[in-house]
Amino acid sequence: MHFSAVIVAAGASSRAGEGPRKPWRRVAGRTVVRWSTEALLAAGAAPLVVVIAEGDEANAAEALAGLDGWTTVVGGAVRAQSVQNGLAALQHQPDDLPVLIHDAARLFVTEAHVRALLDALDGAEGALPALPVADTLKRTDASGAATTTPREGLHRAQTPQAFRLSVLRRAYAAWPAEAGEPTDDAQVVERAGGRVALVPGDPRLMKLTYPEDFAMAEMLAQAPMLTRVGQGFDAHRFGPGDGVTLCGVWIAHDHSLIGHSDADAGLHALTDAMLGAIGDGDIGEHFPPSNPRWKGADSGVFLRHALELIQARGGRLINVDVTLICERPKLSSHRAAMRERLAALLDLPIDRVSVKATTTEAMGFTGRQEGLAAQALAVVQVPA
Ligand code: MG
Repeated sequence: MHFSAVIVAAGASSRAGEGPRKPWRRVAGRTVVRWSTEALLAAGAAPLVVVIAEGDEANAAEALAGLDGWTTVVGGAVRAQSVQNGLAALQHQPDDLPVLIHDAARLFVTEAHVRALLDALDGAEGALPALPVADTLKRTDASGAATTTPREGLHRAQTPQAFRLSVLRRAYAAWPAEAGEPTDDAQVVERAGGRVALVPGDPRLMKLTYPEDFAMAEMLAQAPMLTRVGQGFDAHRFGPGDGVTLCGVWIAHDHSLIGHSDADAGLHALTDAMLGAIGDGDIGEHFPPSNPRWKGADSGVFLRHALELIQARGGRLINVDVTLICERPKLSSHRAAMRERLAALLDLPIDRVSVKATTTEAMGFTGRQEGLAAQALAVVQVPA
């Protein structure tokens, strides 16, 4: 995913009780600011700017040690000024690059959140996660007496909030001083006339505000995840043609592979492995060969769909391992390109993607070069 990010960690933490300010406290052994910085970098944020309070440079360097791809800028007296300082640090980025503005105090942002926001940005000037208000709302008057207030149509706004850089910059430039301080960035875009879309919020995007929130965050941080493994196998027959597509990479050859889609056995085996890890059927069930829509289809679509199914369960892909089995074409010189393609399709670092190739020593159907086969493993983590 292609986006930039501004993480705001410059607040005074005035409601959070004793101790260091929020960004520099630890939850489950990691500093608050490190949680979302790690998550957004892993989701592909580039560049990523952390807005810190003056004098916090050493705290940031210590908290984010070992991570690559972040810089810091010093924030302002109020949140809106801190965000604008973060945007100023992105001044050389393209106008249409999405930017996610995120509160450091919301630790548990995931790739799935980011993907939903970027998708929503296709049809709106801004997008944010929001939770419908579920509790009955009471308003108190000066005497403390309570009356009920309707909750219909009310939502709790969370972060990250997504915009195009130019849209957010223009909106801040147009914000009238007499309007006071905006309480989030979407409000600034709304005021400038932009359409803001809501994507489903997540209780895990809770904001650390009060001392008791830290205990809740500790519990969430230790929420048990199950590690699950899936395996897949696929084979396709050779037919006339001038090349094959394997793991998303075109390889010139004196035959092609026969199949309803692009016959990419590597991606088919891997898609089945990912579906297997979450117990969600197989590729033929999700993409029936009887459906003409999948004729000649790029099998990357199947793989992405399997990834989205994992993420929809709150899960994440940990690593994949594909073995391609054929005598010819020779694959060793294409392995690096196949790994890169898989890493891009799956939003994974390259060291969590393996592609191997082997032969069957001239035995069997791959040995006779009637076709080729692929097998794959996928490891995922999903909430227990
Ligand atoms: Mg197949």
